Amino acid sequence: MNMLAQEEKKPKRKAIGDKLRFEVFKRDQFKCQYCGKAAPDVVLHVDHINPVSKGGKNDILNLITSCVNCNSGKSDRLLTDNTVLEKQRKMLEELDERRKQLKMMLDWREELKGFDGEVVNSVAQYIEEKLHPAKINDLGMSNIARWLKKFELSELLQAIDDLNPITTKTGEQDLEAMFNSIPKVANFNRKGEAEKSACYIRGILRNRISYVDYQKSLHWLTQAIEQGVDVEDLKDLAKEVKNWTQFREAMEGILNG
Ligand SMILES: [Zn+2]
Repeated sequence: MNMLAQEEKKPKRKAIGDKLRFEVFKRDQFKCQYCGKAAPDVVLHVDHINPVSKGGKNDILNLITSCVNCNSGKSDRLLTDNTVLEKQRKMLEELDERRKQLKMMLDWREELKGFDGEVVNSVAQYIEEKLHPAKINDLGMSNIARWLKKFELSELLQAIDDLNPITTKTGEQDLEAMFNSIPKVANFNRKGEAEKSACYIRGILRNRISYVDYQKSLHWLTQAIEQGVDVEDLKDLAKEVKNWTQFREAMEGILNG
């Protein structure tokens, strides 16, 4: 939109990339967060909550979806531009923007469709049972689909089982916060698993070689497992090395290469 024109005048303002804009729109479900109007009925902007002039950053937490009308700073500028040419240029930009936003929305829908719908649905059901009477919307579904790309199904289900109650200020269960904490719990569990395996492998080392730096070995092994190195390969390594130096060199190779 007219963001381009602004950039020319104020080179300090960094453009918000399409990817980040898409993330903000998705989070806000393609709705102006001030008046609730949605694309494609209105043209949406990404607005800074804390303005750039006051040090606001292009951080997703500082960005919000706003329609043209609600984004008053920019509408002021629009009003002062009254040459026909300028208006035409703006209309063209607006058209282009609408097209872009429509495409983003379609991409978003495609993204939803492309996932293994059945798995997503069953996870959603499982969560709804746990977080009764919460209902998971489209955005929630796309979150679950994203989590399924990062975690195994079993890891996700475990995390849902392990969810801790989170309460609001009024003492009610904050189901949304609990929902959002699922990937954190899964991550936490995964870390726990990595450390358990690392401890086990360190045990092998300890039985085989005379000197072992307990802390370093645990740290390196945990790190390697978290980076995706196969636990079985690390066990084999622990069974093969003849001394601490060999183990250290091998681990340095794994972690740096
Ligand atoms: Zn609005």
